[in-house]
Amino acid sequence: MRKYVIMGVQGSGKGTQSALLAGDLDLVHISVGDIFRWHVKNHTKLGAQVRRLVAAGELVGDDLVEDVVSDRLHLHDWNYGFIIDGFPRNRRQAEFFLESYDIDGVIHLDLPDEEVRRRVLARRLCSRCGMDYNLIAHRPSTEGRCDVCGGELVTRTDDTPDALARRLRDYHTKIDPVLELFRRKEYVMTVDARAGKTTVQQAIRASLGLPPHTPSRPGETA
Ligand SMILES: [Zn+2]
Repeated sequence: MRKYVIMGVQGSGKGTQSALLAGDLDLVHISVGDIFRWHVKNHTKLGAQVRRLVAAGELVGDDLVEDVVSDRLHLHDWNYGFIIDGFPRNRRQAEFFLESYDIDGVIHLDLPDEEVRRRVLARRLCSRCGMDYNLIAHRPSTEGRCDVCGGELVTRTDDTPDALARRLRDYHTKIDPVLELFRRKEYVMTVDARAGKTTVQQAIRASLGLPPHTPSRPGETA
């Protein structure tokens, strides 16, 4: 049984790296963001609550996040363990989590704010089918057009420099103390997230004492 927490700013590749690790080790990938998106998409009561908060320009509160994570973990479908992303969000949650779940390690994907800005501001979204693009890592073959449906590529409304600067500030204010607490208890493995995705994954494996990842699926190279 392996239990990991993964931390890193938006754009640091948490989702990708968690999926690679979870796939090989049969871990359940618990992404708080994905859970909330699922509720919004499926029009649940919780989804309506989240939608109201977002419409009012507010963030989902720590207590709500805690409830969602706790419900998810109580499903106990994680026979081989889990990797959790988006939690804990404050020191109290971090302390409680350490006491309750006997964590094996905290993977910290380290990405300088400058690189976050470069990556996030390069994101584009198809206005027709919703396919994600990135002008650095995943360029469309025709500029400004979706490869799949030919729709126009647009920037997400919350991917402006100002909005991103605000999110980065919020992230550091909130998450740096959590990271510091984990660091003091010697759980944190910091991995340089600037490299390509396979390189980052291998660095994670090495730091956790796991065998290297063998790319197997098509397209899954550096
Ligand atoms: Zn499209």
